Amino acid sequence: MGGRPMQWKVGRVRITKVVELETVGSTRFILPLASNEEIRKLPWLIPHFATEEGRLKMSIHSLVVETPDRRIVVDTGLGNDKQGRNVPTWNNRATPFLETMTAAGFASDSIDTVLCTHLHVDHVGWNTVLVDGHWAPTFPNARYLMGRVEYAHWSSRHGRADMAAVLADSVTPVWEAGLVDLVEADHRICEEISLAPTPGHTPGHVSVRIASRDAEALITGDFMHHPCQIARPEWSSTADSDAAEARQTRERMLTRLADTPILVIGTHFAGRTAGRVVRDGDAFRLE
Ligand SMILES: [Zn+2]
Repeated sequence: MGGRPMQWKVGRVRITKVVELETVGSTRFILPLASNEEIRKLPWLIPHFATEEGRLKMSIHSLVVETPDRRIVVDTGLGNDKQGRNVPTWNNRATPFLETMTAAGFASDSIDTVLCTHLHVDHVGWNTVLVDGHWAPTFPNARYLMGRVEYAHWSSRHGRADMAAVLADSVTPVWEAGLVDLVEADHRICEEISLAPTPGHTPGHVSVRIASRDAEALITGDFMHHPCQIARPEWSSTADSDAAEARQTRERMLTRLADTPILVIGTHFAGRTAGRVVRDGDAFRLE
């Protein structure tokens, strides 16, 4: 962390990456087929997305999308002070993420829209902050957009203890504050920004399409977790709710993106985070 945040310009839209957490290795639990040996067969991943030894680099970050008249935060990471998370280091966090955002020019009260690509633990955390023992919306002037299908799916699954905690501290408080708008998976937010349905990782998962002037970009969300899945779309994540549908979505999206000028910005891609998909033999790679 530190230094100037990474930014991209897409026509009149500017996208800024605000990093919460970067990790190396310990990703076998999420992509079990991505062994060190398999990763070393994909040298284009090194050094941005993997180490020389073949260990995966990953990132949890928010992307602030600015159009001429909107300020949209796409995904809100893990958050501070949360409890009941399955990953030990995701509990009781105390990081200066909001200070980093403010220093980058994005005070919390200047955000008008929060978009959650899906409702997993690492995408909703900064929806709320702990104030006097209560969870309060972090972005009081924002509408929080969540997929209608996604919200219905998780709010009917209180049996999963980890997900119940996430909903209770990071989703329900913004819902009760009246800040949530449930939207369709192809919802248009404004002239330049719209959603694209990419189900499989979760039933209501969406990606974010940015089109301005002649330029286009796509924020992936978690239909891919790591660029190795561009070369190996059949590698499922253990977090995918429907592995077959997730694979179909990856193959469909990669086929559509390949050899186009569309900038692909990865929600968990480390390092330079973005690139263009090109065909490479039977599959693809990121340039
Ligand atoms: Zn995620």
